[in-house]
Amino acid sequence: MKEAKKIKFTYTANQKHWVGDGFHVYGLLRPSEQLNKFISPFLLLDYASPKEFSTTNQRRGVGEHPHRGIETVTFAYQGEVEHRDSSGGGGVIKPGDIQWMTAGKGVVHDEFHSVEFSKKGGIFEMVQLWINLPKKNKMTQPKYQEIKNENIPSIALASGTKLRVIAGAFEGNKGPSSTFTKINLYDIFSKTSKSISLNFKNGTNTVILIMAGELKIENKIFKDKNILIFEREGSEINFTASENFEGLILNGEPIDEPIVAHGPFVMNTKEEIYEAFSDYQNGKMGSL
Ligand code: MN
Repeated sequence: MKEAKKIKFTYTANQKHWVGDGFHVYGLLRPSEQLNKFISPFLLLDYASPKEFSTTNQRRGVGEHPHRGIETVTFAYQGEVEHRDSSGGGGVIKPGDIQWMTAGKGVVHDEFHSVEFSKKGGIFEMVQLWINLPKKNKMTQPKYQEIKNENIPSIALASGTKLRVIAGAFEGNKGPSSTFTKINLYDIFSKTSKSISLNFKNGTNTVILIMAGELKIENKIFKDKNILIFEREGSEINFTASENFEGLILNGEPIDEPIVAHGPFVMNTKEEIYEAFSDYQNGKMGSL
């Protein structure tokens, strides 16, 4: 008999903030010791909901900045994002593509709207997720994975309902991303209302972001820009997606280690944070 995973917290943001001048986001998850128990290995989630940008010759985005101890994963839904980093990684991701950057021991990167998108203008929609690295991998070599839409398995759950397996597996279909800990990442797009059943290992953490439409669960209705955080216990999540539903599902084996987060760095101790600042200032994370 499968136990249902129950909702532990729900959260919605009513205010957006700018990251640089290119990303107007709802900050829906932030690294915190209290929350970490229920969201680990995930640390931060910013949702740039659909927004129209006018044509410009000046690219919008975030200039050079470092990261250490984490992976930053950017999902492009509308518009294009360009990234460059000090380990030589980089590229343009287009709608449906994902960039998976392992900062590990440290990189410096920048994140901009692509040149082509900036010139054309249009609707921009994106998610950025930070994933923690376990203590033993925090100082791993930086790595960059460009994950193209065409390499992401897309499973038809019903006519008009598809689930993409970005990482981990869904009913035997494996996602293309390489991860340091056990993670399942899916996104779901449903044109018609549909009951959806997901199964995860008991004891893992699960978070759902609603990007569009509504989700009905435990006899409650949640709208877009809501984030649902589940109990570790239980394995089954059953919900009804509304018409034109879009959601992102995060599931992972928790990393039960202390976190100390400061700006772009997430380590296990304060001393390691001081070290990260000093290494960055001394150029040890490279430059662009
Ligand atoms: Mn960054």
